Amino acid sequence: MYYDWKPYVPVAERRRKAAREMQKLRKKGHPVSPVVIEGRAIAKSFWGKSWCENLERYGDYANRLPRGRTYVRNGSVVDLQIAPGAVEAVVSGSALYRVAVKVAEIQPARWKAICGDCSGAIDSLVELLQGRLSTGVMERLCRQKEGLFPTPSQIEFSCSCPDFASMCKHVAATLYGVGARLDERPELLFALRKVDQQELLASAGRRLPASKARPAPKKLLASEGLEELFGLELEADAKPKPRRRRG
Ligand SMILES: [Zn+2]
Repeated sequence: MYYDWKPYVPVAERRRKAAREMQKLRKKGHPVSPVVIEGRAIAKSFWGKSWCENLERYGDYANRLPRGRTYVRNGSVVDLQIAPGAVEAVVSGSALYRVAVKVAEIQPARWKAICGDCSGAIDSLVELLQGRLSTGVMERLCRQKEGLFPTPSQIEFSCSCPDFASMCKHVAATLYGVGARLDERPELLFALRKVDQQELLASAGRRLPASKARPAPKKLLASEGLEELFGLELEADAKPKPRRRRG
């Protein structure tokens, strides 16, 4: 118990210090986005869990990742930003450390193969982002070295801490933090890997049939009058005025 108990106070103190630093950054206009984990699971969604599982299946990482779990759970990742090809984080340790992770974009041939294999199997962006996918599609997207998730050779990282040798706990915490972030914003995975998630959808590259592309004219004419629908809208756009309620 002693071992568990002892670091507790410093962590709380560090957190307060980190919170103050983050507040300063916010005031300077930097959009600070901490990783907040509720409960024990770092990630709960298909995307978040798959990100974490992908990292854990590589021998290169297996020994070093566990140190990041406690860190990410106790709120040490005080800022995490995901951009195309890059993740930047501020992690609170004995000081605040800056972590930078570069993730290679998916090679065009690999992306084409993924889209081809999933072709017609994902109906909407909502289904895709919510991870409501068939087992086959999930398996394809997660396939080692051929799916959406990066291999260690496609990930480069650095940290400003003094004991940065291979993968420090700040980097490990950041990598887990990405998994947690994908729970809330799965679209960031596609941004990170520089691909367009729309290309995975069944409708990709196919035009909508005319009947679905615009509202049926009959219905509009039958309704109470086009000015009500269009005239007022256009006028309201030109110069805003309160709309009358009909009643
Ligand atoms: Zn570090």
